[in-house]
Amino acid sequence: MTSALLPTYARAPLAFERGEGAWLVARSGERYLDFGAGIAVNGLGHAHPHLVAALTEQAGKLWHVSNLFEIPEGERLGRRLVDASFADVAFFCNSGAEANEAAIKIARKYHASAGNPERYRIVTFEGAFHGRTLATLAAGGQQKYIEGFGPKVEGFDQVATGDFAALEAAIGPETAALMIEPIQGEGGVRVIPHADLRRLRELCDAHGLLLIMDEVQTGVGRTGRLFAHEWSGVTPDIMSVAKGIGGGFPLGVCLATQEAARGMVAGSHGTTFGGNPLAMAVGNAVLDVVLGEGFLDHVQRIALVLKQKLAALRDRHPGVVQEIRGEGLMVGLKLGVPNTAFAAAAREARLLVIPAGDNVVRLLPPLIVGEADVAEAVDRLEAAASSLDSAMRGAAE
Ligand SMILES: *Cc1c(COP(=O)(O)O)cnc(C)c1O
Repeated sequence: MTSALLPTYARAPLAFERGEGAWLVARSGERYLDFGAGIAVNGLGHAHPHLVAALTEQAGKLWHVSNLFEIPEGERLGRRLVDASFADVAFFCNSGAEANEAAIKIARKYHASAGNPERYRIVTFEGAFHGRTLATLAAGGQQKYIEGFGPKVEGFDQVATGDFAALEAAIGPETAALMIEPIQGEGGVRVIPHADLRRLRELCDAHGLLLIMDEVQTGVGRTGRLFAHEWSGVTPDIMSVAKGIGGGFPLGVCLATQEAARGMVAGSHGTTFGGNPLAMAVGNAVLDVVLGEGFLDHVQRIALVLKQKLAALRDRHPGVVQEIRGEGLMVGLKLGVPNTAFAAAAREARLLVIPAGDNVVRLLPPLIVGEADVAEAVDRLEAAASSLDSAMRGAAE
């Protein structure tokens, strides 16, 4: 039978019934080791008892009231995020793209409120992904996503990462901000060197620009710090966060300094669903765990175990796995075979991984994985790599 859904996704022929920790159980009963975590979303794995308890408790009390009223759970989550970061204020929404829309609006309003409405342009970087709304598509700059949807939203200029001559040339009297993922996710787990992030900060300071970091994928412990930019010592003025902050519940947040958000007043921006009590209860529960004693240490330690095992895998299959990239539990394998073929072979071995740009597959396991999960995942990657290795040899003969 044909599907009643708009055919915008190339879905694998696989449906799941339940999950537990790093494991998913298919409707057929087969168990899959989940090293995709719903694209870096299920940071605490599936059916984490603390999240289940927080959600069910809140579900019996109050789901939604609208932003016409105070929402104490949101005040609390905002305070905790602000206390744990560079930021002074938070705006809650429901997705990464919305968090970036808020970031773009805050940056433009910052200059407009100072009498410079002509400063609205934002410089972004090749390989970026910022979302699928019309403005965030223009920010991401990928032609294949933009084409056919009418005029591209105005005000975004793109340069290659690391090309500082092009960047300086792109900065003009209309520039409001630079926007970057500290590690490009969809683009292929491309880590922006810390020295480059420092130069971006210096350029922003020299030209009166705001630095926006898109930590939708890198945030909430994924790299072993609460936010990936902490590794570089560079702080942004505005930051978007989503994916991991809801642990699977749709939740996004845009964080900013008081100064960056100076133009935003009652009525400047809004959302119906954003920050409702149900979402806030889950977000607070995620932070209970991620900010808990030793949690980020665990992520760093287990990431090291994974990295060492992956290096050995690469040595055994250099034709298949060419390079290992990333930080913490955001890992990219740059492949010598098509990444979709590799992901399919991993799925045959009952391991879920996620293709990305630049012929990379991403390993984005739940942050709660243990050493046994990591060993099991690498065994299954080994099986996938071996089958592709023999297929390559077969083709060469
Ligand atoms: C996923 C992602 C987005 C978009 O998030 P949605 O929730 O799909 O709107 C934006 N930026 C980055 C870096 C992402 O990884």
